[in-house]
Amino acid sequence: MLIKTYDLDVFTPPCEPGAERFSAVARLTTDISEVLPYLNATLRGAVYHQAANALTWKKGGHNIAFHAFEIATSNVADRDAAIKELDGLVQLVNRTWERRTELTPSTQKRQRPTPMAIYQLLPKTSCKQCGEETCYIFALKLSLGQRQLADCPPLLEPAYVARRRQLENMVIDAPAIG
Ligand code: SF4
Repeated sequence: MLIKTYDLDVFTPPCEPGAERFSAVARLTTDISEVLPYLNATLRGAVYHQAANALTWKKGGHNIAFHAFEIATSNVADRDAAIKELDGLVQLVNRTWERRTELTPSTQKRQRPTPMAIYQLLPKTSCKQCGEETCYIFALKLSLGQRQLADCPPLLEPAYVARRRQLENMVIDAPAIG
């Protein structure tokens, strides 16, 4: 097990004094630098900054950052939510480290897709089944990790299989569907 324990800090982001959502950091005693290329190879939408020895990722509305001795997340409701989120990320790091012999590490720096690039692959019917007024708003929220591909039912239709596959390969925090 790479990470056995961590110290938790929960705080209000400095740019949002009085905010009702919090940021949290797990401070580690173990250097997790070596696992970052493996996470980069396996986490869809992750962006690896090799020179900074950091990897960022968006997951379900959280901005996640992995550094050598810390894991940070944004947008948690309270201390219990922070512990739950960070425990999950610690398990992710440990699982990835344990599987490293099966994985090919990557130091490639991928770009996050723009909302327009995502929009171009959506049905563009603005049918509102996802609860958004337009496909572009859905694309914007998808790019921010606030929505998932599975929230767009028309993408499950056979006519959109090819586009759906393209989207699955490019979008942030969007598990494969169908
Ligand atoms: S459900 Fe899909 S097609 Fe319909 S508005 Fe939302 S993103 Fe567009």
